[in-house]
Amino acid sequence: MKVVVVGGSIAGLACAHALFAAGCKQVIVLEKARTLKPAGAGLGLEPQTCKVLAEWDFHQQLMDSTLPLTIDQSQATDSKSNATRVLARDENFNYRAAHWSDLHKMLYDKLPRDTVHWGHEVVSFQQSEDGVRVEVKVAQTGQTVVVDGDLLVAADGSMSLIRKHFEPHQHRRYLGYCAWRGVFDYSKNDSPEMIASIKNVYPDLGKCLYFDFAKGSHFVLYELHGKRLNWLWYVNQPEPHMKINSLTTKVDKSTIEKMHEEASETWGPELSALMKATSEPFINVLYDREPLKQFVWNHVVLVGDAAHPTSPHANRSTNMSIIDASVLGQSIAKWGFDKISIALAEYESIRLPVTSQQVLYSRRLGLLKQGFLFDPPHSFPWFEADANLCDQLLQRNMPCFKSNS
Ligand SMILES: Cc1cc2nc3c(=O)[nH]c(=O)nc-3n(C[C@H](O)[C@H](O)[C@H](O)COP(=O)(O)OP(=O)(O)OC[C@H]3O[C@@H](n4cnc5c(N)ncnc54)[C@H](O)[C@@H]3O)c2cc1C
Repeated sequence: MKVVVVGGSIAGLACAHALFAAGCKQVIVLEKARTLKPAGAGLGLEPQTCKVLAEWDFHQQLMDSTLPLTIDQSQATDSKSNATRVLARDENFNYRAAHWSDLHKMLYDKLPRDTVHWGHEVVSFQQSEDGVRVEVKVAQTGQTVVVDGDLLVAADGSMSLIRKHFEPHQHRRYLGYCAWRGVFDYSKNDSPEMIASIKNVYPDLGKCLYFDFAKGSHFVLYELHGKRLNWLWYVNQPEPHMKINSLTTKVDKSTIEKMHEEASETWGPELSALMKATSEPFINVLYDREPLKQFVWNHVVLVGDAAHPTSPHANRSTNMSIIDASVLGQSIAKWGFDKISIALAEYESIRLPVTSQQVLYSRRLGLLKQGFLFDPPHSFPWFEADANLCDQLLQRNMPCFKSNS
């Protein structure tokens, strides 16, 4: 059995681990990026994901490179008076805060050296009765080569070429807002006063996932290993038409200055100072898609964002990718390679209903948090919100989520 994985980000590398663990001897990962390089920012890993990573022998590395998130807290801030109200607090939260690059490198470093082929962009593919054939453009030589396999795992992200082949009319949906993001590194201790004032307002940093709500907007703040503060600020706006189709688009100086001005009108001095002090903040333009009706087409299976691109509010993308990989590997291990079609059908039957519900749930959560669901839209009822509304903010209320699994 030779498996060709397209995409060497979290889903692709996780699938390589799962396939090796399932007994597959030949796995190649084709990744269009030329090299492994630091990118991205923070993400939250749920207990089930940590369990899967531990099964692949990453437990110690995970503990060493992440911080606990034992509290999930949502609060509202009044932009004028700077008064706050705690809306919901879960002290039995059991996540880990990771940096995307640390997780990606950790997954990469433990794979056999000849597994990932950097600078290999899949430009087309076709299926036959026996398997798949992909055409790959190799960046270093400029040549196009052909790779054959028995199974194609599409881990090529939210703009997946492979999903587009099967679902050409399915378009991405702009969510109505973008996220400013950044990571502030205070390991050199060069801003002690700013850090002290932030920790004064957010005293549980280091173990808490903070959500802070202002009018038509919300902010996310948590700490990463290595004295780094990870932040996101969600801003309602018409869809920006950016040339670069990247998850982590860098922006020019004047746009950053405008963001700083707006931040000081929306948030207290602590958060605005943090945003100002962060070098190279970037923008995520946020999209999701309607859930698909299938993940498997004969010898092709979709995983991760290729299968179910989602909004970030329920911390789903990376968790779903790693759990997809694990379920795929377990189904293949259970049924064996000679019954691969049964294994793939089992994977689809387990993952499709769960991920579909979670994509829709996360979409609704984003609309709620950004004020779209209020009457009138973008009003600010959080200071009067009842327990039922506040409860909806807790991460543990996501469908199909076993917080202690
Ligand atoms: C550089 C980078 C930084 C990120 N940083 C964060 C972060 O800080 N926080 C966060 O929550 N999420 C981040 N993400 C997104 C996160 O990885 C995903 O949302 C989630 O983990 C699902 O991963 P995925 O592997 O399915 O998709 P993606 O992470 O989008 O990966 C898809 C991969 O496929 C490759 N690819 C696409 N088309 C082809 C092709 N035709 N041939 C070969 N390769 C192809 C892409 O280059 C990419 O590496 C980042 C993604 C990337 C690529």
